[in-house]
Amino acid sequence: MARYIDADALIEQMEADAEHIDDYIAKMMLYASIDDVKNAPTADVVERKRGEWIKIDKYDKESNVQCSVCLEEFDYIDGVCYLCHGYELPLFCPNCGAEMLKEVEE
Ligand SMILES: [Zn+2]
Repeated sequence: MARYIDADALIEQMEADAEHIDDYIAKMMLYASIDDVKNAPTADVVERKRGEWIKIDKYDKESNVQCSVCLEEFDYIDGVCYLCHGYELPLFCPNCGAEMLKEVEE
């Protein structure tokens, strides 16, 4: 499976690493690798949004929750999550599609 990375962040880190290399040959090899990364073909990917459920009232265990990405608020009714008709919050926000962390931010 392909793995996508932030190439600009990697290049920045590699250039910072190169500054600490005293050996000329090793330094040139690292710069050659940096050029390889710069010239690598790119893929058309969509960045996955990640968020977390935030309790509106952190002192109420049946508090409505809000998506940290799109700020949409969802109801708890009698202890049951309106979104999923169960006690567990969904792993994805149904409004914006963000993948949610399992922990509820309070
Ligand atoms: Zn959302």
